[in-house]
Amino acid sequence: MFRAIVNNIFTGRRTSGASTITMQVVRLLEPARRTYLNKLKESFRAVQLELHFSKEEILQMYLNLVPYGGNIEGIKAASILYFGKGPQLLSLAEITALTIIPNRPSSLRPGTRNDALKSARNKWLKRFENDDLFDKNLIQDAVDEPLNVRRLSAPDQASHFALRMKKDYPGQPVIQTNLRIQLQMQIENQVKNYVNRLQGMNIHNAAVLVINNETMAVEAYVGSADFNNPFDGGQVDGVRAVRSPGSTLKPLLYATAFDKGILTPKNVLNDVPSNFGGYEPENFDQHFNGPVTAEFALANSLNIPAVKVLKEISTPVLIDKLRKSGFKTIDKQSKDLGLSMILGGCGVTLEELTRLFSAFANEGEFRPLSFTAEPLRPKKGAAIVSKEAAYLVTNILTQVTRPDLPTNFDNTFHLPKIAWKTGTSYGKRDAWSIGYNRRYTIGIWVGNFSGEGVPELSGANIATPLLFSIFNALDYNSPKGWYKIPANVSLRKVCAVSGDIPSNFCDHQITDDYIMGVSPYRKCQHMRWVFTDAPGKISYCTYCLPEKGYEKNAYPNLAPELVAYYELQKIPYPKIPPHNPSCERVFHEGAPLIVSPNEGSEYYIRKEEPQQIQLACQAAIDVQEVFWYINDKLSKKSAPHEAVFISPPFGRVKISCSDDKGRNSNIWISVKRM
Ligand SMILES: [Zn+2]
Ligand SMILES: [Zn+2]
Repeated sequence: MFRAIVNNIFTGRRTSGASTITMQVVRLLEPARRTYLNKLKESFRAVQLELHFSKEEILQMYLNLVPYGGNIEGIKAASILYFGKGPQLLSLAEITALTIIPNRPSSLRPGTRNDALKSARNKWLKRFENDDLFDKNLIQDAVDEPLNVRRLSAPDQASHFALRMKKDYPGQPVIQTNLRIQLQMQIENQVKNYVNRLQGMNIHNAAVLVINNETMAVEAYVGSADFNNPFDGGQVDGVRAVRSPGSTLKPLLYATAFDKGILTPKNVLNDVPSNFGGYEPENFDQHFNGPVTAEFALANSLNIPAVKVLKEISTPVLIDKLRKSGFKTIDKQSKDLGLSMILGGCGVTLEELTRLFSAFANEGEFRPLSFTAEPLRPKKGAAIVSKEAAYLVTNILTQVTRPDLPTNFDNTFHLPKIAWKTGTSYGKRDAWSIGYNRRYTIGIWVGNFSGEGVPELSGANIATPLLFSIFNALDYNSPKGWYKIPANVSLRKVCAVSGDIPSNFCDHQITDDYIMGVSPYRKCQHMRWVFTDAPGKISYCTYCLPEKGYEKNAYPNLAPELVAYYELQKIPYPKIPPHNPSCERVFHEGAPLIVSPNEGSEYYIRKEEPQQIQLACQAAIDVQEVFWYINDKLSKKSAPHEAVFISPPFGRVKISCSDDKGRNSNIWISVKRM
């Protein structure tokens, strides 16, 4: 260094530079103008570096920072961009070339100055030969090696995943992840091609997450169809974007109900118009199916049965399960969530949903995802649902006789053996399809990051074909086999009408899975005995039953909501004859249920043009007539399924409905002036 200074002073210009590797590192870390003062500062910094780091560490810094012209920094970047491989794979000729470029980055720039670079390279190789550093033949091979480099484009595989890992592990030069790069590239291609075909429908994006169920390793992670497409939000990471789940939380709901002993797969739920305190959900196709089994309701993703089941197990119980399964947005929203959450009225990510389904794949056991090779996750997780309930749900979601198969599904299309659930969010903004077998859980989201809805968007038709084709490519006919029936799940005979334990009435019996010691043991009450007179015109109770001249007949025990539905749809059903008019017994059970207006609701009414409000009830099957009272004064008399209208008084108003058996119920509303 001293020699260089003297030289420079005598010649008046800079002829030779002198820097140790450490000083070069200092300059690369803190670039400054080349003055003698700065040189002095740099020497001081160099001493500091030498005190803090070993020679090896300083050399590593140098190799990571050394400039290669353009925006290329570090020998690894140069190796990848000029030779398309990591430095450990370079030949002697290649590493020699790379080593000398930093001395004259512009005059030896690869691609534009290949000849100069080659002769400089060979000069050094000759010196190696003279110094006996390498075998003669090796040197000769290196000298003969052609040099045809040009700058390659930077690798951009798994862009969303790479960005995420970089953020999660700041400053770590190499992050060993569980991604399977061949699989990742194949799925990236599949997603890109698939979304290209959907462009015409105004559908522009998709995201895919592939989880290995055994290790919980994330093996493929596609955040969008094209990271480099700025028009459709290509850089948005669809794996982590918060979206509406549509119906995809229903499997967890039914599994929870199985575990709580509320339901078995063949238990019957009424898919009929229902009012849940002012909330009147509809089905996706706006049709009602009447009485259906729980498994039909789940496989067909019916909304009303799902809301009923949620009401029974209560939203806090479901939210608690979701919280334990790592659903962050739902945890934040928990205070504001109601029954509609089971139809998609909440926020989830593809990552959260796919991870939840992997718990079903792992027989109810929830485990966190493993992105990097280290640290190894503990083998045991937390049971979100029992393995029995997981088995029952998996069984239902494996059935292929269901409406959420893609409409173009036919025999030429390979259907992988998987359990899957689709979802379509409100406004057709999100299409989901999440599937699993024993080895893999794959989550698919298709939609627009702009949030724009598309009429053709549906989980069944738009997301499921991509799920099937990825499964077929990844694990068609999985050698791992299918789930075995848990020891605690057994078969029993149930009444086909109710799914309950058969009683004397139940002549149509079917077999049903149940969880021993958990599933409900209810005797079927789908029919009941009714005493009537001989022509079947009036019915008797035990109080007014005459000594002779009566008959005992079985009548269906229909829930009021089902009677109301049959009346509405004009579906015939056996009606119990009107009760003996001379009976004096007062009945208590089965009072009419007032379904309009809602208890506690507020009405604002203009005095000049008073609006009317509708009164409606659901009455027991043997009721012929109901009586409406407003503030204890008789207002209307009607058939039980007839809607009537009243002009209410202002203030707090008591509305009562009595049936012809004297059973009564009351609600209160408040009516205010607008
Ligand atoms: Zn029965
Ligand atoms: Zn009676």
